[in-house]
Amino acid sequence: MVECTDLSISPSDPPLVAIALGSNLGQPLLQLRSALQVLAQTPGISVLACSPWYRTAPVGPPQPDYWNGCLLAQVQLSPWALLKRLQAIEAQFGRQRQEHWGARTLDLDLLLYGDRSIRTPDLTVPHPRLAERPFVLVPLAAIAPQWRHPLLGETIQTLRERVGDAGIIAVLSDDAGETTFATAADRRLPEPRQ
Ligand code: ADP
Ligand code: MG
Repeated sequence: MVECTDLSISPSDPPLVAIALGSNLGQPLLQLRSALQVLAQTPGISVLACSPWYRTAPVGPPQPDYWNGCLLAQVQLSPWALLKRLQAIEAQFGRQRQEHWGARTLDLDLLLYGDRSIRTPDLTVPHPRLAERPFVLVPLAAIAPQWRHPLLGETIQTLRERVGDAGIIAVLSDDAGETTFATAADRRLPEPRQ
């Protein structure tokens, strides 16, 4: 996987997108890594970078902890075609839509699509809850700290610092192994690489 530390976040052709991956049923890490491979092999999607995986406390109804990560890709698909592909991959991994915010084998959310702002019944971009979720902003800031939220005008790093690390339990880098944040003091995460 290409490290994306000095990727400049500017309008690009094909457009740059950020996708959030999450799972808390079955074998979450296995499913996330396999989903990453499926996405990387999907025509029209070129994966550029993937964050470490973060173990996070669930939001919503009582359910197991999540594993979350984010990836950056260049796409040759419209936002709606990309959403359809993401939903087809969720289904391929056994996703069943039941309770709102309920447990799932795989959740793929389109966070950002270049500097586009979209509001249609089936798709909102930037993702409407992006700016308030540590479990999205912490992984995203690890790979795209300088990307500016097209509606808020602030960088991902600024938004990430504002929400803090609440609910982030552990981080697993596929190169460096797992670090668990056992106490509040230990929960200070390493600064994202610039
Ligand atoms: P959540 O991820 O918020 O728990 P779901 O994955 O069940 O919810 O998605 C619910 C609906 O959200 C989908 O049917 C999809 O059409 C809609 N949606 C709107 N904007 C987005 C987006 N940016 N990414 C993913 N789904 C979206
Ligand atoms: Mg979703």
